[in-house]
Amino acid sequence: MSKPVSTVVIVGGGTAGWLTAGLLAAEYMAGPDSVFKVILIESPDVGPIGVGEGTWPTMRLSLEKMGVSETDFIRHCDASFKQGTRFVGWVTGDDEYYYHPFTPPHGFNELTLGQYWWPYRDQVSFADAVSPQGYACDRALAPKQIATPEYASVLNYGYHLDAGKFSAFLESHCTQNLGVTHIRDNVVAINAAESGDIESLATESGKTIDGDLFVDCTGFAALLIGEHFGVSYKSRSNYLFNDRALAVQVPRRSPKEPIASTTLSTAQRAGWIWDIALPTRRGVGYAYSSNHTDDEQADSDLRAYLSGTGDADFAESCTPRQIKFSPGHREKFWHKNCVAIGLSGGFVEPLEASALVMIELSAKMLVEHLPANRELMDIVAKRFNDKFLYHWGRIVEFLKLHYVLSKRSDTEYWRDNCDPKTIPADLQDSLELWRYESPWRDDLPKFDELFSAASYQYVLYGMGFETKAPDVERRSFRANQAAAEKSFYDTNQRRAQLLNALPTNRELIGKVCEFGFQKI
Ligand SMILES: Cc1cc2nc3c(=O)[nH]c(=O)nc-3n(C[C@H](O)[C@H](O)[C@H](O)COP(=O)(O)OP(=O)(O)OC[C@H]3O[C@@H](n4cnc5c(N)ncnc54)[C@H](O)[C@@H]3O)c2cc1C
Repeated sequence: MSKPVSTVVIVGGGTAGWLTAGLLAAEYMAGPDSVFKVILIESPDVGPIGVGEGTWPTMRLSLEKMGVSETDFIRHCDASFKQGTRFVGWVTGDDEYYYHPFTPPHGFNELTLGQYWWPYRDQVSFADAVSPQGYACDRALAPKQIATPEYASVLNYGYHLDAGKFSAFLESHCTQNLGVTHIRDNVVAINAAESGDIESLATESGKTIDGDLFVDCTGFAALLIGEHFGVSYKSRSNYLFNDRALAVQVPRRSPKEPIASTTLSTAQRAGWIWDIALPTRRGVGYAYSSNHTDDEQADSDLRAYLSGTGDADFAESCTPRQIKFSPGHREKFWHKNCVAIGLSGGFVEPLEASALVMIELSAKMLVEHLPANRELMDIVAKRFNDKFLYHWGRIVEFLKLHYVLSKRSDTEYWRDNCDPKTIPADLQDSLELWRYESPWRDDLPKFDELFSAASYQYVLYGMGFETKAPDVERRSFRANQAAAEKSFYDTNQRRAQLLNALPTNRELIGKVCEFGFQKI
């Protein structure tokens, strides 16, 4: 009989390490006598990357699964509610904007509305025609009320959070409530078994840590998957050019300032600037292409943005932190008895905040398919690798979509982005198809796509893409048109109700801190 997998060793105490530890421990370490062990080793010298502050709605489920109270999470992580992204200047470079909200279009499972909305495009944006969420975001409203139970929603939402506080919060929950063993030490050597598997890790203080499965959450260092196993890295820089970021934390000018309920993503001459609103500060950064601008110009563009948002003094005095990255991912993520989760597995620009959700999905698959023994591990590893390679391909395509639909041609960056040589072939095919039919459920090949057809619709129609009008000769046309009109009407009605009922983001966070949400 092959040895059971009962000890999982995670190297890395950033968001990837603690989320993986928490989800595994919550499922497998049911009581004090549990034979299953999760050990997390974290370097005392190298801190977590400290960026990564926008999540998807999936984070609600991950936190709930770990037994975290949403009230505690909001209080300890300087968190706010995120309802999507507002893309500014992506189409023409002017002040225009569109939303990619988290709530799917009204009646999304019955009918796709893109083609029926088109005749009204000069009166109302696609997002506003099919969902009240854009209006809520325009007013910095919260997605729920204080009486809404923890993790339940009125409008779909994820979070903005302080990455440093989030890691610390997860650490304390995992060690105090879930029984995760935490070791602060540097891993200095990897001891291999004859099979090539990792047998144990040696630490600087002289410990040897044995395990059955090792999870590489060491960030860009990729100590196990990259440095030890040499699993190669697939660059995606031919499609996605951004390879540097400049990040700052902007203090609030007043504790009463509204807290935006979307990430702001503002297009720049050689990239885009994210602006993430937390209760006590904003996280702002410029993701740019070093082939299309230099660091000095990027720095000055970031400062100009900060001045434009009313932070001229801060813009002058701040010292942005530079982060370099290579857009891409591993050729495989699970090799032998080692699986890479987080930045060690790959990273591309955070345009749709896809990194944390990939961590959640990887940890979820690990939890649901944790191999019972070593013999089964290679089968699970193959499935894991197929699944996540597919996800990476789709992430690259979805991010690239934002660039290819732009009408900007003011800089080489935007011109290069629309050069067919830089557009994945599958995306080119899809765009051809979408000229005749809206992306919808059956359009996407897998049941668990990362980006749903709703997301594609929001970006396509937000950026002015035209899908041919529905064929009036088709038997279904009249019924569909009537259903679409009703859907637009219902959305309008619901919007009026919601705008009256929802508090602002700041009001709700204030109440959560004072009274807390209703418990789960
Ligand atoms: C500019 C930028 C913006 C981003 N924005 C977003 C966003 O908005 N949304 C989103 O979802 N994601 C975003 N991300 C990605 C997100 O930050 C990461 O996916 C997330 O923080 C997870 O990081 P990690 O845990 O993999 O690595 P890290 O946080 O880098 O953690 C690495 C850990 O490994 C440990 N370690 C390293 N070497 C050793 C060793 N030898 N021994 C022991 N321990 C070791 C370190 O101590 C550390 O604890 C962004 C990333 C960047 C670069």
